[in-house]
Amino acid sequence: MNKGIVVVISGPSGSGKGTVVELLKKNPKIFLSVSATTRTPREGEEDGKQYHFLSQDEFLKRLENGGMLEHNLYCGNYYGTPLLEINEQLEQGKDVLLEIDVNGARQVKEKLSAVTVFLLPPSLQELKNRLCGRGTESNEMIDCRLKQAASELQHIEDYDYTVLNDDVSLAASRIEAIIQAEKCKTEMNRELWGEMIK
Ligand code: 5GP
Repeated sequence: MNKGIVVVISGPSGSGKGTVVELLKKNPKIFLSVSATTRTPREGEEDGKQYHFLSQDEFLKRLENGGMLEHNLYCGNYYGTPLLEINEQLEQGKDVLLEIDVNGARQVKEKLSAVTVFLLPPSLQELKNRLCGRGTESNEMIDCRLKQAASELQHIEDYDYTVLNDDVSLAASRIEAIIQAEKCKTEMNRELWGEMIK
């Protein structure tokens, strides 16, 4: 069986990454990695579903024990990708989605081969509307996230693809198309037919 690929999705807070990855998760060939974080759960969020919600001590302990593929401190909270399930899922042929920020994306690229996608909101105004409209963040947190958004946008050139999130299902199918195209690349076939292709 051909191994799955790692797909990193980044984009400013409010770009709609969460909704897009929820749609992608419905595809049985895709595994969405559940990150660990020290931030407080938002209303409706459940431990183990959107995130593994950890205390700072627990997060730092796991980090120290080498349990994270990458991590970052974002607006005062730690976020990280637990290593455990990723290899297992790839071996089973699943494509693994990591929904992480630009700092995490850079660390992942340094460690393994991954396809990177930057998700763009339709406009800056829309981004602001989404962030403020959520009603889940303090003004201070919204400010921090807007500043982060401006700085994350500077890294757009580092990504393999950009996808406009003007429509959630369209954005999800664009990403699925990217995954399909990447899996047709010669090096993937080389892995499968290594002996035959000289
Ligand atoms: P939020 O608090 O809105 O769920 O996430 C804040 C930011 O952290 C988002 O940009 C999100 O992509 C990023 N993030 C979520 N999980 C991870 C992770 O495991 N690692 C890194 N580096 N960033 C993450």
